[in-house]
Amino acid sequence: MTYTAEIIAVGTELLLGTIVNTDTQDVSRVLSEFGINVFFHTVVGDNHERLKQAVEIAKSRADIIITTGGLGPTYDDMTKQTLAEAFGKRLVFREDLAEQIRSFFKNRLHNMQMTENNLRQAEMPEGCEIFDNPVGTAPGCAFEAEGKHVLMLPGPPRECRTMLQGCVAPYLKRLSKFEIRSHNIHIFGLGESMVEDRLRGMMQSMQNPTLAPYAKDSEVMLRITAKAQSEAEADRLMNPVIAEVREILGDIIYGVDAISLESEAIRLLTEQGMTLAAAESCSGGLLSKRLTDIPGASAVFMGGMITYSAESKTLLLGVDEALIREKGVVSREVALAMADGARLKLGTDIGIGITGVAGPDGDGSGMELGSAFVALTTADQSFCRSLRLFHDRERVRMGAASHALDMIRRFLTGLKVAD
Ligand code: ATP
Ligand code: MG
Repeated sequence: MTYTAEIIAVGTELLLGTIVNTDTQDVSRVLSEFGINVFFHTVVGDNHERLKQAVEIAKSRADIIITTGGLGPTYDDMTKQTLAEAFGKRLVFREDLAEQIRSFFKNRLHNMQMTENNLRQAEMPEGCEIFDNPVGTAPGCAFEAEGKHVLMLPGPPRECRTMLQGCVAPYLKRLSKFEIRSHNIHIFGLGESMVEDRLRGMMQSMQNPTLAPYAKDSEVMLRITAKAQSEAEADRLMNPVIAEVREILGDIIYGVDAISLESEAIRLLTEQGMTLAAAESCSGGLLSKRLTDIPGASAVFMGGMITYSAESKTLLLGVDEALIREKGVVSREVALAMADGARLKLGTDIGIGITGVAGPDGDGSGMELGSAFVALTTADQSFCRSLRLFHDRERVRMGAASHALDMIRRFLTGLKVAD
């Protein structure tokens, strides 16, 4: 059976717009990971009657009701009472929980005065399963009644997230007889909407597995998720789809699962015993940073120079002053000369040169904001991409570094590196 769920976020401050309803977002994500359909998000204030109404409605249209907030000790925290009442259950005082709350105050809150009302948090609907709260005082809980599963989680986002991972996920896993498994397909070189456009026909007809694109840092990730009796069965469902996506998108896919452009570049350099040096201007060292994030980079990445001025390009990389004057500091020629400079100075097989206008203001050269040149050279080959990146400083830097990494990958796998 496929379950449907409704999330009820309790809190007047949510209705007033004082805080953003991140708990509902977090809960929804976990539910969708388990293939549970979420049809409604409800938000209701700290009001017994209206909360009860919301629960009655949820009861009529969902199998699983998850509430967030209102589990605390104060008078406006009424979630447990209301939900218990709505399902005809009593609240019972749990001495074991009271003891936990006392010791939380003693040990974690350094003997902060515990007022008696804190013990209200030890009152729980009869027969419920307790969800421990390792990062706060209010435990959560779950019970089954009238054919529904009711789960209650605390409001503070850190507590809610911790409980989602620690208690709700295992609860849902038990509930669903299915294994949910995902793979991530990593893509560089095509925007999210273009990826979606190419896969639309395929995506629309799919139910299990499902395929969804996510854009992140100038890349696109496709998540494929399958629901099946076992992990192996889920993979059997997904493998042909992954193959079809590969067929459609081709070599802009740089890998599947737990991989990044930088890890792929380092892996290929290592495998082929090639060394690399970088000369960076607008990316300000971001390429070098990303390469050195990968353990083992030192075997293949010799170093990078941040040459942020025309002078430093000449001084550190030996780029001809006249070339800079003639072509401009943001130019194909200078990017190539920077790559050569880094490669020759550090004696590596491959050199990278990055120069561009990161903005937000122009550089006075007349080059458009977001223009960048990324060059890759070896002793006998040279390539340069001329880019128009987004008009946003961070994205220009990230984009330029990602292009450099993609060029390294494509060069080392014998693919076309630049137009
Ligand atoms: P406490 O024990 O802190 O009282 P609680 O479970 O009673 O926790 P609430 O009193 O409803 O939860 O909310 C506590 C705080 O948690 C709120 O002030 C708010 O900052 C945050 N919070 C509550 N609900 C949400 C939500 N849906 N999304 C994001 N933050 C929330
Ligand atoms: Mg509260």
